[in-house]
Parts: sequence; C-alpha cells; structure tokens
Amino acid sequence: MSATSSSSQNPAVSLRPPADASYYAASIVGFDAADAGRYALRSPATGEVIAEVADCGVAQAKLAVDNAQRGFEAWRRTTAFERSALLKAWHQAMMEAKEVLAVTMSREMGKPIREARGEVDYAASFLEWYAEQAKRVDGDILPSQHPDKRLAVLRQPVGPVLAITPWNFPAAMITRKVAPGLAAGCSVIVKPAEQTPVTALLLAQLWQQAGGPAEVFQVITAERPAAVSDVLMEDRRIRKVTFTGSTPVGKHLYAKSAATMKRMSLELGGHAPFLVFDDADIEAAVAEVMASKFRNGGQTCVCANRIYVQRGILDAFSERLTAAVDELRVGQPEDETTQIGPLVSQAGRDKAQSHIDDALTKGARRLTAEREVDGFFVAPTVLADVTNDMQIMQEETFGPVAPLIAFDSEEEAVAAANATPFGLAAYLWTRNLGRAARVSEALDYGIVGVNDGAPSVPQAPFGGVKDSGLGREGGRYGIDEYLDTKFVSTRLD
Ligand code: NAD
Repeated sequence: MSATSSSSQNPAVSLRPPADASYYAASIVGFDAADAGRYALRSPATGEVIAEVADCGVAQAKLAVDNAQRGFEAWRRTTAFERSALLKAWHQAMMEAKEVLAVTMSREMGKPIREARGEVDYAASFLEWYAEQAKRVDGDILPSQHPDKRLAVLRQPVGPVLAITPWNFPAAMITRKVAPGLAAGCSVIVKPAEQTPVTALLLAQLWQQAGGPAEVFQVITAERPAAVSDVLMEDRRIRKVTFTGSTPVGKHLYAKSAATMKRMSLELGGHAPFLVFDDADIEAAVAEVMASKFRNGGQTCVCANRIYVQRGILDAFSERLTAAVDELRVGQPEDETTQIGPLVSQAGRDKAQSHIDDALTKGARRLTAEREVDGFFVAPTVLADVTNDMQIMQEETFGPVAPLIAFDSEEEAVAAANATPFGLAAYLWTRNLGRAARVSEALDYGIVGVNDGAPSVPQAPFGGVKDSGLGREGGRYGIDEYLDTKFVSTRLD
C-alpha cells in the first residue's frame, strides 16, 4: 500500500452537514446500504429528524474487522514519514472543512456554534501534533555484558484498534484517539456515539480526501452500540480498545477485554472539584469557573462539578458568579450569540434538572434568576448551601449547574476534594506558591489546573485515576498506548 493512494473510496458519504433527513452510509470498505438498517437522527434543539444513518450490525462489524486487519498489514509497513505526511494532509483538509464540521456538531448535539468552531481547531491540533510525533517513536540499544550480543528495544504498533467515542466532543474525542493510533502504525475502527455519527463520518471522508487508505480508518455507526461492540470486543484481531464515556460502560468493556487480552485505555467520568482559596484573584476565578462549568452546557468530563469556596470570600464570589451566570445567553445552537444550547437528550436534561430539584428539596438555595426553558434546555443555575447528601455532590451532573460549598481550612478542602471514587480533573485557585504546590500534589487526580480552568492541550497527558479510568491520551504518553515494546537480543557469529 502506498501511503498516498486510497485503495477504496466510499462514495456514499458526501461532505455536508445533516439536514432534510438525508442518508449517511457507514464508512466501511465494501459496506452495502441494502444489508444494514437505518436510524433517524434528531436535533436536540428542535426534535426534527436531521439525518438518517446506517444502523450496522454483526455483518458490518465483521466486515470492518476484516478490512482493519488487511489495512493494518499494509499500514504497519509504511514509513513514519509517510504516515506523518498523511496526518498533515488530513489536518489541512479538516481546517478547510471547519464550518461544515462545526455546523454538523451544532445540529447533532446542540453545541453552540462558536464553541463548535473551537472544537474543530482543538480536534485538528491532535492531527498536527501526532503528524510530528509519528517521526519520534524511537527504540533503544541497551549495553550488553557479553561482547557478542546486541540488545535492541523496538516499538511496534499493537494492531487493529477499536475506538468507542462519546457525543460531547464529537470530533476531538475521535482525533485524540485516531491520530496517535495512525501515527503509531495501527488501523482504527471508530464506533462513534449514536447521537453524533455524522461528525465521525465526515472525518473519515476528509481522511480519504487527504489520500488516507479507507481500510485504515473506518467508522461503524449503530443506534444500539452493543449490537456491534460485542462482535468487535470478542474478535481476537482487535488488539486494543480505547474508550471515552461513562464509568459503568467502561467497566463493562474492561471486563469483556480480558477474554482476548486486549490493551485498554479508558477515559471515564469525572466529578471535578474547584477549590477557591481566600487569597485567590476572585475575578479570575469566577471567569474560569464560567469557562470550565458552562462550556458545552456543562457536558464535559473535566468541568467543575463541585465548587468549594473558602468562607471569607464566599459572599463576594457567589455574587460575582451569579451575576455572570444570569447574563449567559440561552438559545438555539446555530445562533452566533448563544452561549448555552440544549442538553443532548431527554435523559441528559432530566438528570440535570433532577440534581437541581433534589438539592432544592434538601435545603439548597437557587441564587440565579429562574428562566422559562423547554425541550432539552436547562436554565444555567448557581446553588448555595449545598451539602454532601445531595445527588449533585455524589455524581457528575453533565449540565449547567454550579453548586457552591463553603470550607474553612486547606486540609478540609483537600479531604473533601478527594472524597470521591472519581479522579479525572481538579482545579485550585490561590496566589500562595507553597499552597499551590502542596494542594496540587495532594489531589488524587490525573489533571490539576492551578489558576487554570482549561488545561487540555494536545502535547499534555489527559486521563484519570480511580473510577475515572486508566491510560493517557495526548502527547508522547498518548502514543505509547498504541505501541508494543519488543526486545530483540542478537548473538553475533
Ligand atoms: P456512554 O458510556 O453511554 O457512551 C459512550 C460511548 O459508549 C458511546 O459511543 C456509546 O454508544 C457507547 N456505549 C454505550 N453502551 C455501550 C455498550 N454496552 N457497549 C459498547 N459501547 C457502548 O456515555 P455518554 O452518556 O454517551 O457520555 C457521557 C459520559 O462520558 C460522562 O459520564 C462523561 O464523564 C464521560 N466522558 C468522559 C470523558 C473523558 O475523557 N474522561 C470525555 C467525555 C465524556
């Protein structure tokens, strides 16, 4: 296989945002629409059917693995420089298609259009970064105690990969997995969230337009994930699974992976604490809570979920935060002025609303003004007097709700922050250098933002501890997940 020739294009997919219930085929080499069902994709903002999408099953899953195995055998023999060139071309194609991708995400899952454009930039940055990193997968030569022996350590691709991705970052959660996988020499099958299949299909189309071989990056769409994931999980040829989503599904897949001993990366739920100490710059802390908590309508796994404020500044902080939240513009996702769109689904809306209702019933106070909203929309809300017995303190809300809790001492704040099975991201606000170092080291989390509410960048490791998962994405750490380490000991004649 030449890295610049595409052995099989998929003509059924065209580069257009979903509208008028138009049909999208799966991006699987040899896919025949007549063999698969189809399902309706609805806008979370209006309830209208915006697309029909291939509903794949067992036959398509098997076909995808056959292709991925064949694709891998050829792809692994390309040079790192060829793979790098293709990733760069894909990055370029993605940037040229920025508006189509952004509109697609807005329509599929309700992300405000300005945020959607930002996600395209962020998602594409992984292609660029791993295009460069592809060329830096070095091995080692080890010193030997025997003069006639040569000891080499090789880094080789693990094999065909299954990537299962969520709906909240429909593009970035794909590129953060696929870019290092392809850079390492693996082929990848993406099973996108059933809510956001079109973004994934457009990314596959752009890959092929950039000259990428169709078997090397495929997208299998399905309304019910288990219909295809069971086949993919049980197939020995899939050597690695990388998953982003909820903790229960992650644990289910982890258990299933044991039978065929797959490598696993799991990016699961969070329940991020945000500690604001009384020496903090309050204005800056409020601005970053706004960015962290209310981005994507609060539907991010690293968003501030529990906001602990030292008692002496609680009133000043609450007042400023409430004023800022009351100014947030709720509206249709494609409106340029919208800051808060709908939540992704009825279930998402019901969960966030039930966290608000439960807290109010148990004694919390709503600080923000009430607003009339309907459908899947939830009014952005700040809650005061929140206590540990409330649901909102026990699990992530995945909605635009900010609970405030007072604390007195540093020890108390750290203990409260760590008192959860989750450990993805945590944040702290302080001007005291000693405290910044002490607290960031004491927090049992994979990512810590010190006076920084948005730490994610392509070159840094992203991932959690405890029930938030295992493995890391991003940077040189992220590509290790797709590489096996082989030791070659050679005795010379
Ligand atoms: P989800 O776990 O239901 O779905 C995620 C993906 O898993 C989707 O593609 C879905 O189709 C698939 N899936 C669901 N059930 C499956 C099964 N039985 N077998 C195989 N695949 C299955 O999660 P969600 O509700 O769509 O997403 C929100 C969750 O994801 C939140 O809990 C959030 O914290 C988490 N998340 C984590 C990160 C991270 O990087 N750590 C990022 C985004 C979202």
